[in-house]
Amino acid sequence: MNLRTIRQRVPAFEVTEGAGVTVHRSIGTPALKHLDPFLMLDHFGSDNPDEYIAGFPEHPHRGFITFTYMLDGHMEHRDSMGNRGDLQAGGAQWMKAASGVIHSEMPKQTDGLMRGFQLWINLPARDKLSDPAYQEFSAAAIPEVAHEGARVRVLAGAFAGVRGAIEDPATDVLYLDVALAPGGRFDAPLADERNAFVYVFEGSARLAGETLPRHTLAVLGEGDEVQIEAGGDGARLILVAGRPIGEPVVQHGPFVMNTREEIEQAFADYRDGRLVRTRAAMTGH
Ligand code: MN
Repeated sequence: MNLRTIRQRVPAFEVTEGAGVTVHRSIGTPALKHLDPFLMLDHFGSDNPDEYIAGFPEHPHRGFITFTYMLDGHMEHRDSMGNRGDLQAGGAQWMKAASGVIHSEMPKQTDGLMRGFQLWINLPARDKLSDPAYQEFSAAAIPEVAHEGARVRVLAGAFAGVRGAIEDPATDVLYLDVALAPGGRFDAPLADERNAFVYVFEGSARLAGETLPRHTLAVLGEGDEVQIEAGGDGARLILVAGRPIGEPVVQHGPFVMNTREEIEQAFADYRDGRLVRTRAAMTGH
């Protein structure tokens, strides 16, 4: 057994959206531009009924996957694949934009609360212009595991013999939501070939002898197992891992490709109405 250490600590960078709603961005900032295959992690939230988020009306994506996990509140959405709905608290949406999707995302408060995450997952070159795909699961369809005092929701990948709701074939993403009581412990095997991070969003956690306060991301070092212990107020965190792609990343706004020419092509396709080429069937519950 070789315990994962912390390679880099990244305090989230605050970006204000709408009328005072705060987005904490960690991946996709000057301190951590990318963590292959992850391109961006936004933790958005508000507990003030006077604040609201304007949301994101119709906009395009190409070349990667958006993974949205709502903790509180809900998100009205629609896309060019024909999917439309209202993602409720505890639910998750995996949208492979690939060759091109246009969608709208409008997070809303419930009883003054709205919290969630959006993670951007890169695609390898061979999949960047493949057909879009979509998976959406409600809270009830996401398996939950009680594990030595931890409550673990398995959004994607497998944990303790339980297969998560979302399948992520290209980079084999593991996505766990871990809740720990004060002093509670969590450990999990985590194979070395996957890049991994922990992001604490409630309480504080100890990992490899370091304390991670709320709104802190830790990039994990090499090893094959992760051990986490909650602080005195307990902890809630996401643990995410994925197989690195190891290809050049050229990103411009909503498009993430391998070369500058492919980005120019994406802008030209969007301008000429050729970004959306295919429609995909919706799966999930
Ligand atoms: Mn979007």
